[in-house]
Amino acid sequence: MNMSRPKSSGTFDVVIVGGGIVGLCIGYGLVKCQLRVAVLDGNDADFSASRGNFGMISVSNKGFSNIPYFRLSLTSGRLWPLFAEELRECSGIDPRFQGRGKVYLSVGDRELDEQRRHIEEFSQRAGAEYRNEILDRDEVDALLGHVGLGEAVSGGSFSPLDGAVDPLKFYSSLLRAYQARGGHYLFGHIVDRIVRDTTAFFVRTPAGQFSAPRVVIAAGLGIPPLAKEVGLQLKVRPERGQIIVTERIDQVFKYPISGFLRQNVEGTVMIGSSSEYAGRDDRTTVEVLKELAKSAVERLPSLRSVQINRCWACLRPRTQDGYPIYQESSEQPGAFVVSCHSGITLAALHTRLLPQWIMEGARDRLLEPFGLERFRDEQPA
Ligand SMILES: Cc1cc2nc3c(=O)[nH]c(=O)nc-3n(C[C@H](O)[C@H](O)[C@H](O)COP(=O)(O)OP(=O)(O)OC[C@H]3O[C@@H](n4cnc5c(N)ncnc54)[C@H](O)[C@@H]3O)c2cc1C
Repeated sequence: MNMSRPKSSGTFDVVIVGGGIVGLCIGYGLVKCQLRVAVLDGNDADFSASRGNFGMISVSNKGFSNIPYFRLSLTSGRLWPLFAEELRECSGIDPRFQGRGKVYLSVGDRELDEQRRHIEEFSQRAGAEYRNEILDRDEVDALLGHVGLGEAVSGGSFSPLDGAVDPLKFYSSLLRAYQARGGHYLFGHIVDRIVRDTTAFFVRTPAGQFSAPRVVIAAGLGIPPLAKEVGLQLKVRPERGQIIVTERIDQVFKYPISGFLRQNVEGTVMIGSSSEYAGRDDRTTVEVLKELAKSAVERLPSLRSVQINRCWACLRPRTQDGYPIYQESSEQPGAFVVSCHSGITLAALHTRLLPQWIMEGARDRLLEPFGLERFRDEQPA
């Protein structure tokens, strides 16, 4: 196994900048094709969405206004069961994938009507592949195993397209599987320059220099200055999310609820995550945590007496329009940028489609709508 030993230099087939989920998924896919790969990662002081996220594999609420994005998420969702199993076998760590679906709880009749209309319209836009069914209060109660719904819950919906993983177990299993297949992961190697000669890119860090004919910039919020080095201009904005984690409870929620309540296998309940713009401030705030707790108790009153164990905030890397970016530099071919703010949902697809694109040059048709061309008329960063 290639542990994160400091290494002063090295030549690889691909160097990946950023060891979050996105960089590691690409790395994992590449090492499966027998390629020599180095992932250069920052350190604990960096923002890392991959180490503080909610773990939802969300499909049913992705791409209402952008059906190609729905298809991307759907394809990834379908690949997830096999991907999770493969990671478990290869790493010995179970990412605790739950692929049974998600329940949405509507509060009040108006919200239920809105949810009904939303589902009808989504189905018309996306076709038969979109699956989400409206349920009345009794049906949703039965589906959740009579856990005691709040009085205001009017009904809801169920989509079998969604799933979840334990976010930290997933991250560890992915890193371990990547290393087990021969990938190099170098922690504390902050890239400050990327230069190119006729044969290769030279990726520079204070700890040493690494070269490869291909370089992938997947450094989350650290992308924009590095992308400039290879002739690409893009904006990635920090979107803060806050999460509450409770003590372990015996009561079992069979499904993630409304995308903001889910239970880990060992019994802790995760509540979150919020969505706010607060610059690079990754602190929690009482107001937002109170709001999250209130929404949870409104839907499931039994949570009122459950103790909160931890809370945290973390920053999502968000592109200008919220959709992923998959772009090769035309000025410096062989340099690629990848950014997305649903890295868990898209993880299974990233391991399959991105290595092929990076090594063969042609973007799969599913990735095609997500280049930088779509921002052509906007001002550069
Ligand atoms: C609160 C919260 C909840 C979320 N919930 C979900 C969810 O339920 N489902 C879902 O699909 N997604 C979710 N996300 C989003 C998901 O976590 C991100 O899409 C994903 O983690 C992005 O991964 P990344 O690798 O691009 O970025 P990051 O995880 O931020 O990793 C970037 C890495 O790049 C490194 N880096 C930066 N600059 C440099 C440099 N110069 N040199 C070397 N390394 C560098 C950093 O050290 C870091 O390790 C959530 C995010 C948050 C914050």
